[in-house]
Amino acid sequence: MFRALLAEKIGDSTRTTLQEIDEARLPDGDVAVEVLYSTLNYKDALAITGDGPVVRSFPMVPGIDLAGRVMESRHPDWQPGDAVVLNGWGVGETHWGALAEKARLDGNWLIRLPAAFDARSAMAIGTAGYTAMLSVIALERQGVAPDRGEVLVTGATGGVGSVAVMLLARLGYSVAAVTGRSAEHGDYLRRLGAATVLDRQDFSEAGKPLGKERWAGAVDSVGGRTLANVCATLKRGGTVAACGLAGGMDLPASVAPFILRGVRLIGIDSVYRPRNEREEAWTRLGELVDVSLLESATSEIGLESAIDAARGLLDGRSKGRIVVDVR
Ligand code: NDP
Repeated sequence: MFRALLAEKIGDSTRTTLQEIDEARLPDGDVAVEVLYSTLNYKDALAITGDGPVVRSFPMVPGIDLAGRVMESRHPDWQPGDAVVLNGWGVGETHWGALAEKARLDGNWLIRLPAAFDARSAMAIGTAGYTAMLSVIALERQGVAPDRGEVLVTGATGGVGSVAVMLLARLGYSVAAVTGRSAEHGDYLRRLGAATVLDRQDFSEAGKPLGKERWAGAVDSVGGRTLANVCATLKRGGTVAACGLAGGMDLPASVAPFILRGVRLIGIDSVYRPRNEREEAWTRLGELVDVSLLESATSEIGLESAIDAARGLLDGRSKGRIVVDVR
């Protein structure tokens, strides 16, 4: 038996509870993993509460991220005892996930735990931090260098945003952080490396198709009007890496920034990223993340607290990263 969160469909609603589950119920897979740490991302919170259609089949163990140890393997790359990390691949959505003491998975989904991290710090990064890294790499590939000017991060006190601020500042960019909680968390964002802290409201109203050119690049985890306004205020040839929808799925924008300023909108998908790109992102994270600064942006909870924490995350009551000690 092992402990896990289990999301079940009751009528039209989702009910998630902590349960003791028989190992025989684990899904197929060629590697069995003892989960040491998981984490709570926005998507996990949607899966746990049922507030968004993340879970594709019920019952489901939520949890898109894990760091743990291989227990059994029929996969040629993995031996018992190997330290591994998993992000995405539909785990916690279509395949039983990581908010559990055990998981059985496809060995092709796993990567080796980078030497720079232990299981806990890897989960302090989690999908949120790995997505922030993919977004920063996307900006670099489009030629957004620190000498091009200020870069913007939206949803800045969130998981993706906090790590994006840290990484960009570490790389020498001048970072402007957009938050709905500047009064509460301005100091937090400056500690992570933000040079400027801006109010979310400045980006959430309907704006003009083109505004004053200000940003060389941006990492946007909010979407909606915010993303439209970011596009409208990017400098000529600037790039936004769009990775999230915390403020909405829609994109009420015009083509003006794209056809008149050559602005680029790059979409970031972390879930089905090929293995070599995952390994590249994790290697860069190992080089760039200041583990003690990351720790200052991280809180820890147990499996039994993850259900309440999920509600808090969606209600905007948490900041930074939340690791889950599943044991
Ligand atoms: P968090 O909840 O930790 O952060 C989201 C942040 O967005 C909040 O902290 C808040 O920051 C801001 N925000 C929340 N609601 C609104 C709103 N209504 N309008 C404007 N801003 C808002 O989530 P994560 O960082 O884990 O994820 C962020 C987004 O990125 C999510 O949409 C998630 O699904 C997506 N994502 C996508 C991935 C991909 O593969 N593309 C991978 C990982 C995440 P503040 O209070 O500072 O304004």
